[in-house]
Amino acid sequence: MSTPKRKIIPNKHPMPHQEAGIRNKNFDEVALGYTEETAVAEAERCLQCKNNACMEGCPVNVDIPAFIKKITERDFEGAINTIKEKNSLPAICGRVCPQESQCEKFCTLGKKNEPVAIGRLERYAADWELARGVKIPQVPESNGKRVAIVGSGPSGLTAASSLAALGYQVAILEALHIPGGVLVYGIPEFRLPKAIVAEEIENISKMGVEIKCNHVVGKLSSVDELLENGYDAVYIGTGAGLPSFMNIPGENLNGVYSANEFLTRNNLMKAYRFPEYLTPIRVGERVAVIGGGNVAMDGARTALRLGAESHIIYRRSMEEMPARAEEIEHAREEGVVFNLLTSPIEFKGNEEGRVTSMICQRFELGEPDESGRRKPVAIEGSEFEMPVDTVVMSIGQGPNPLVQQTTPDLETNKWGNIVADEDGRTSKPGVFAGGDIVTGAATVILAMGAGKKAAAAIHEYLSND
Ligand SMILES: Cc1cc2nc3c(=O)[nH]c(=O)nc-3n(C[C@H](O)[C@H](O)[C@H](O)COP(=O)(O)OP(=O)(O)OC[C@H]3O[C@@H](n4cnc5c(N)ncnc54)[C@H](O)[C@@H]3O)c2cc1C
Repeated sequence: MSTPKRKIIPNKHPMPHQEAGIRNKNFDEVALGYTEETAVAEAERCLQCKNNACMEGCPVNVDIPAFIKKITERDFEGAINTIKEKNSLPAICGRVCPQESQCEKFCTLGKKNEPVAIGRLERYAADWELARGVKIPQVPESNGKRVAIVGSGPSGLTAASSLAALGYQVAILEALHIPGGVLVYGIPEFRLPKAIVAEEIENISKMGVEIKCNHVVGKLSSVDELLENGYDAVYIGTGAGLPSFMNIPGENLNGVYSANEFLTRNNLMKAYRFPEYLTPIRVGERVAVIGGGNVAMDGARTALRLGAESHIIYRRSMEEMPARAEEIEHAREEGVVFNLLTSPIEFKGNEEGRVTSMICQRFELGEPDESGRRKPVAIEGSEFEMPVDTVVMSIGQGPNPLVQQTTPDLETNKWGNIVADEDGRTSKPGVFAGGDIVTGAATVILAMGAGKKAAAAIHEYLSND
């Protein structure tokens, strides 16, 4: 008897969301997560194909078909354990990974239909465990060797948990007063609740990883001092947090923020809960966010929630916009206004030195440039003035420079990124690096993958010591 042909459901089960007109006034999470029934039904869309194509797109190599199969069997504990064999931050990745360009891009079902919603299923399994209490992985007895990790972003956290699992004594040194890097200071609460980040970090601490905040490496201690004072190796995961500016007149006016400062004040310092928290932020009636990437979408959606009319100002067209389609759609639904083929050329202020307007120029698209995207060409005589109360510059970030400046024999490239091989080895023996500080601004999962590879290289280096 032949097996009955399986019925393919062509589309992903939709993710329940807060309504756009409600969520644009609060900082609660936008995506609400699958129910058990939806998670099982979505998992049943997986073809369980033999080639495991989706795993190719996962930088930390999670056994995706295996965890999805466990969800179809309602073995949620088995599912999360499978994920955690490779990924120590599953509730975070399930929320913020750009799956469309990673695992889901390779999904066999996705060739003719929508791919399996792998990220949503990962989130379901992680949240299932968080709601019941997380089991902390057993760590072996200490092997007596110490590793310092500089920076507590996803890269440093992953290197730390991987090394703790191998028996190393690990200390993370973090410049800010709360650990998590961009996960806490950059990505807004409405996309990634900070309680979830705190809980996943707490689980890494419970593996014996010490986290020392308010410790700026390059000021309180140098990399050389760490190596001289008892650490056998150092991993640098200091990220790309140095904002870029346009260098146009008026950029120094009050009310012109870098996206980093604007988002940090809100996410890390909780300005949106002023006066309960002590950092105020005044956005006024109209906020202009300059840029078209994911960071710009986060800035524009944050400005809306602070009560302002929020505008994206982007010098190319929608087609070239680098932000994820989902983020653009969410911003649009919530009421962000998109001003395309437009860029500021000057900011104007009042006698108190606060920005009041910007002079913009209109653009048209010319021939493709070296990035392959059509180049914006300014239209002569198209200048116009737009009143603004706050400006958020979101045109990119460079590497945090302090560690490079205070570690003379560490090779860097022309942009100031640390030069490291695939496994994180730098020009300095015993010093490893990965994540955004090496690659430039990238993604959470790529930073995690780098941390994982470097942990293996550190283990190899110290095992041959
Ligand atoms: C607003 C925003 C939104 C984003 N959204 C997404 C998203 O949705 N999905 C996604 O995949 N990626 C997203 N990204 C990118 C992603 O967050 C980064 O690629 C990732 O966080 C890089 O990890 P990392 O560990 O290399 O560095 P980071 O996360 O930047 O962490 C570096 C840490 O090092 C610390 N540090 C720096 N210098 C020192 C020093 N001298 N001493 C001690 N500590 C130091 C910093 O304080 C920071 O905590 C976003 C980025 C931003 C800015």
